[in-house]
Amino acid sequence: TRSMATSYKQPNIGRYTGKADPATGKYTVSFIEGDGVGPEISNSVKQIFKAADVPIKWEFCDVSPIFVNGVTTIPKPAVESISKNLVALKGPLATPIGKGHRSLNLTLRKTFGLFANVRPAKSVEGYKTTYENVNLVLIRENTEGEYSGIEHIITPGVVQSIKLITRDASERVIRYAFEYARAIGRPKVVVVHKSTIQRLADGLFVEVAKELSKEYPDIELKAELLDKVVLDVVSNPSSFDDVVSVCPNLYGDILSDLNSGLSAGSLGLTPSANIGHKVSIFEAVHGSAPDIAGQNKANPTALLLSSCMMLHHMGLNQYADRIQSAVLKTIASGPESRTADLGGKASTSSFTQDVIKRL
Ligand code: NAD
Repeated sequence: TRSMATSYKQPNIGRYTGKADPATGKYTVSFIEGDGVGPEISNSVKQIFKAADVPIKWEFCDVSPIFVNGVTTIPKPAVESISKNLVALKGPLATPIGKGHRSLNLTLRKTFGLFANVRPAKSVEGYKTTYENVNLVLIRENTEGEYSGIEHIITPGVVQSIKLITRDASERVIRYAFEYARAIGRPKVVVVHKSTIQRLADGLFVEVAKELSKEYPDIELKAELLDKVVLDVVSNPSSFDDVVSVCPNLYGDILSDLNSGLSAGSLGLTPSANIGHKVSIFEAVHGSAPDIAGQNKANPTALLLSSCMMLHHMGLNQYADRIQSAVLKTIASGPESRTADLGGKASTSSFTQDVIKRL
């Protein structure tokens, strides 16, 4: 069942309700180009979409943060664009350093209720890393857990940091994991937990998974301890070929980076989706790479694969498959076609031209 799929498939599961403009046949998508290498890798996506005749009209959004009463806020036109278009592609955003700045990424997640972070991690055929045939899918709860930002100094030298788990947030992300598994044909959902220690919090997460599993008799549910999953995934990643893992926020954050490392040896190839009830935002997992920004060196693959997940989500599957296949073939074709992060000599623009030739 390995063919099952190409883990970059991003089933819509009835979420995207956008319609093409009847006059032009095009769907409008919000595009946040991002900081650092963002404009360069975004340019690659724009050129490849144009060459592949993807029926999409981009609506570019400026999300330079504004501060209202000391809180990071997304400019209104950007919020309106994304709310209207229901889908956005996003380049990396640099997090301003300093007091009172909340990351824009977190602000976007909160603003649009993006409750599930989908992170596929898949080996690229022809590009050899330590592990081969890795094909992992992890879904991370994106709104609470240790990221609820509730911390207190109890007394100097003693700090309390609260992990928040709610039935509602657990239910929506676990339900999504079951639906996702069903839609891509994976027969197992593994709920990752540490309820031996966090009896109540992780206990609730697992309890919700067990309750929901009654509605999905076709999917086998397994509850696995985080430490066991880490050991299993490193010892034999292929044993997760038929699995969709679902994790509370922090475990998902860490485990998904481990998965990326196993599949690609880096974050530079890893795409992601942030799914909400209405809006979804697709982005590369890596950051703005300020060390190589403006040098035509960045690898656009992660953003390109994120854009393919977005096309699947919108039901534009043939375009997604065509672009994904051209990108992967370019990487597989040999070191001279790869960017520097993969040990090659190609620039962002020459890689892009190579992909276009392979469309
Ligand atoms: P980073 O991912 O930007 O860079 C880490 C290393 O990976 C760097 O050496 C960089 O050159 C390399 N790298 C990253 N993307 C690459 C690409 N496409 N091609 C080639 N090499 C690439 O992580 P960082 O340096 O810790 O963070 C920089 C900024 O990005 C920070 O402000 C951080 O907050 C932000 N960030 C944003 C996001 C996001 O928008 N989702 C995610 C992570 C970090």
